[in-house]
Amino acid sequence: MTRERKYDHWIKEISGNIPLVIAGPCSAETEEQVLKTAIGVKKARGNVLRAGIWKPRTRPGNFEGVGAIGLEWLKNAGKETGLLTATEVANPTHVELALQHDIDILWIGARTTVNPFAVQEIADALQGVDTIVLVKNPVNPDLALWIGALERIEKAGIQKLGAIHRGFSSYKKMKYRNEPLWQIPIDLKTKYPSLPIINDPSHISGKNEMVFDIAQTAIQLKFDGLMIETHINPPKAWSDARQQVTPEQLDEIITRLEIPKDRAFDPALLKSLKLLRDEIDELDRDLIEILAQREAKTKEIAALKFLENISIYQKERWLDILNKTQNFAQEKQIDKNFINQIYRLLHQESLKIQHQVFKEKEQE
Ligand code: PEP
Ligand code: MN
Repeated sequence: MTRERKYDHWIKEISGNIPLVIAGPCSAETEEQVLKTAIGVKKARGNVLRAGIWKPRTRPGNFEGVGAIGLEWLKNAGKETGLLTATEVANPTHVELALQHDIDILWIGARTTVNPFAVQEIADALQGVDTIVLVKNPVNPDLALWIGALERIEKAGIQKLGAIHRGFSSYKKMKYRNEPLWQIPIDLKTKYPSLPIINDPSHISGKNEMVFDIAQTAIQLKFDGLMIETHINPPKAWSDARQQVTPEQLDEIITRLEIPKDRAFDPALLKSLKLLRDEIDELDRDLIEILAQREAKTKEIAALKFLENISIYQKERWLDILNKTQNFAQEKQIDKNFINQIYRLLHQESLKIQHQVFKEKEQE
């Protein structure tokens, strides 16, 4: 992949200058469900009909997709409504069958992107094919692995490439099904400015009532499109029931979305932004100045500990700092979790510096 190469011509052809909307059920279930959803997606101004045909389920025993018969339904629903069609492929047979059924867009799922052997087999099956391929982020937050999968597909000769940001899994309890970690897709876009990135608020949120907010954030961050799971009767869906919206809700989401205007040329706005950014720059200097002062104090403390032969890590003091800074964060109405993370980093750095001081003193 290169910074200069243009990857985005295909998306502009489909949706023009507004975000691309890919919508449809998590899984194709019946011919009627696929067609009815397609009609709803078309009415809601979607561009592409999605449906999973082979479903990668975390544990066995759940519905694993209807298989190749669903490709017929998808193809027919696309023809009937004029929507393009998209499905997930996880191995060369899937690629072959999807291409035989003229599916317009193939995507590689998050659980496949993690495996370079699997991605390479898909890439080999795509040699010489002119189709659109989207690569979902791997389940773990690893930008290099995501880029590696995109590169394997590009090396096979695919020019119409794109990425899908579906969030990252985590063992911790959180409000998301998959944590967005927005910095990762932003870093991808910074590296490859023309690579279209589509946000999947459904798999990030895991809950249909959260889909709008995540979609809106993505659009504010200049993502190129959205993939929203849509089902005619979400509570009865055979997979991912909790996160799917109805076609009517999809319509409402698209209507409510605020697409930021490109006002980079408005001189008044540029001036206000510049003033605020100058102030932020100054605050950043102050922050670093204070961190340097804090570091100097850390070194003084380390020298004293060395003299008195007491251990570097002092549990009580650390708990005291955590407690005080949490209270202060609350007073200042700053997210306590954010402050907690910053102090963990500071403490880690402080321990490192104190060890260095000890080493230097030992050599004196
Ligand atoms: C899907 O899109 O239905 C899917 C299985 O997604 P992911 O690969 O992001 O888990
Ligand atoms: Mn799904």
